[in-house]
This record gives sequence, C-alpha cells and structure tokens, in this order.
Amino acid sequence: MFNKFIAAILPYFPKKFVWLFSNSYISGEKLEDAIKVSKELNNKKIKVTLDVLGEFIKDLDEAEANKKECIETIEQIHKNGIDGNMSIKPTSFGLLIDKEVCYRHVREIVAKAASVNNFIRIDMEDSPCTSLEIELFRRLKTDFPGNVGLVVQAYLKRTLDDIKGLTDLNSEAAPLSFRLCKGIYVEPEAISFKKYEEINQHFLEDLEYMFANKIHVGIATHDKPLVEGAYALLKKYNVPEHLYEFQMLYGVTPRLRDSIVNNGHKMRVYVPYGEKWFGYCTRRMKENPSMVQDIIKAIFYKG
Ligand SMILES: Cc1cc2nc3c(=O)[nH]c(=O)nc-3n(C[C@H](O)[C@H](O)[C@H](O)COP(=O)(O)OP(=O)(O)OC[C@H]3O[C@@H](n4cnc5c(N)ncnc54)[C@H](O)[C@@H]3O)c2cc1C
Repeated sequence: MFNKFIAAILPYFPKKFVWLFSNSYISGEKLEDAIKVSKELNNKKIKVTLDVLGEFIKDLDEAEANKKECIETIEQIHKNGIDGNMSIKPTSFGLLIDKEVCYRHVREIVAKAASVNNFIRIDMEDSPCTSLEIELFRRLKTDFPGNVGLVVQAYLKRTLDDIKGLTDLNSEAAPLSFRLCKGIYVEPEAISFKKYEEINQHFLEDLEYMFANKIHVGIATHDKPLVEGAYALLKKYNVPEHLYEFQMLYGVTPRLRDSIVNNGHKMRVYVPYGEKWFGYCTRRMKENPSMVQDIIKAIFYKG
C-alpha cells in the first residue's frame, strides 16, 4: 500500500530526486550515454535495442524531430560498431494524429536501418494502437522483409489470432519477427487477461505457436517460470539459434539475465535513453511499486 502510494505521488516529486534511483533503468539523457552502455553490454556478449524516450506527441513537428533523432541513433549504432538495433513507438511519429504521416516517418527510419543492414522493432502500445500498429507493420514488412519486426502482448485476448493473421508474411528467407511480452498497459477486462496464471499460460501458448511455425521470437520477460517454460519449449521444438533470443529491460533482474547468457542463449537488452526519461520512470514505478524501496534506499545511500 505504502509503495503504491509513493508510486502514485512520485510524478509530483522533483526530477533530480527521481533520477537518483532511475539511473539504474535509463542509460542517460544523451545518445552518447546509450552508446556507452551498449558497448558495456556488448562486452558481456549481450546485444541491445535502443529506445529514444518520448511517446504520445501532441503535434506533428515533434514527429519530425523524433524521426531525425532515430536516424541519428541508427547512424551512431553503425559508426560505433554496436551489436544492436532500435525499438520505436509509432505514437512518437503521430500514429494517433495522422497515420499516413506516421507511416512515412517510420518507413524512412526502416529504410535507413535497411541501408546499413539493421533492424527496427515496432513496440506495441496500448489497445487503441493495436490494429494500427499491426497494419503499419504489415505494410513495412512487405517492403523491407528482413528489417522490421513487431511486439505482441500475451495479455490481450486477440493476440494469438493477430499472430495467425500475419503468418502469410512468414518465409524461410525472411521469417516473421515478433517480440513476445506480457504487456505493460492497463487494459479493460473485456479485451485482456488479468490473472498472472492466465497471462503466463497465454504467453507460453503464443510462444509455442511461434516455435511450431518457425517464426523468429524475442522472448521478453524477467519472469523465471516463463524463462523455464521457454527452455522446455525450445527443447521440445529443437528451435535453431537463429529463430529466438531472450530480451530484458536495462537494469531489471541482471542475475537471471546473466544465467540465461551463461546457459548459452542469445540475450538482448532494451536500453532507453533521452531527455523524456521522467514519464518512462514513473510508468515503471507504477508497474512495480516495490521499486519504491529503491528510492527510499537512494535517499539514504546517495542523497
Ligand atoms: C525487452 C522488452 C521489451 C518490452 N516491450 C514492450 C512493448 O513493446 N509493449 C508492452 O506493452 N510491454 C513491453 N514490455 C513490458 C512487458 O510487457 C512487461 O510489462 C514487463 O516485462 C514485465 O513482465 P515480466 O514478463 O517481466 O513479468 P512480471 O510477472 O511482471 O515480472 C516478473 C518479475 O520480474 C521482475 N520485474 C519485472 N518488471 C520489472 C521492472 N520494471 N522493474 C524491476 N523488476 C521487474 C520482478 O522481480 C517480477 O517479480 C517489454 C519488456 C521487455 C523485457
């Protein structure tokens, strides 16, 4: 209760205070910070996916600026020889304002990634965006078969049907590429599973469908039972290395992360950076109020 209360009032705290604990989850405000963290992770045989923080924009000028930042990020990933790609949120490019403008921006970003043989992952946002993001992905996958992937959320009741609905785009030369996660937004009960067991059961069901149909998947979870469930399915389907990897968020469950790497599996870490870190952090805290304890520790140890 106490943690939940703190998480709710935290957005009203001074930014500098929230940064004391947030810096374990955000690589920094600048692209150089993200590149530095990426090199450190690469040195531990961990791949990265970079995310420039900032979503749900209010006007299309912001979309243009966000696109330029992404293109610069792709260039720097390439120049610095980083083993990594980018994740993007379509609402940062105006998805909910003008979907054609958004499509043109995202297309430019994917084309840039393709020009340096890289890849863009389209993050999945809340349910008003689901169909729009699937449609966006479908259009881009047709033009750039090996350079774009989509996130799907196990907590949505529609997800397995969405995956099946995209299988016409799957091929051996350019497999469909999904990141499978539980889903982070608060969704209505009518369209989403709410119970931990139900979400996990659907997560594994979606994963099994992907393995059985030779779809590439980024298994994005910090939940040990799901990691173990994934290990069992990897064995059952004898999944080749090029068709899966594990994925985690920067700063979360590093011990479980290292154990997966030590077991010989590929791992990619989602590395957020940018000046708009404040919204990202307060959302993470609402998701997991026990992190509030870290803030309290931060006051004593660092403050
Ligand atoms: C690489 C990656 C990309 C993602 N992309 C998207 C996306 O595009 N769209 C979307 O809706 N969601 C996305 N998510 C978030 C995801 O949907 C979940 O909300 C989040 O990963 C928590 O679910 P979990 O599977 O780790 O299980 P949980 O049951 O939530 O967590 C299991 C355990 O992991 C630890 N843990 C989990 N999250 C945190 C945290 N933030 N801080 C500290 N400890 C934590 C806790 O110990 C917890 O008990 C992404 C997650 C990852 C790893």
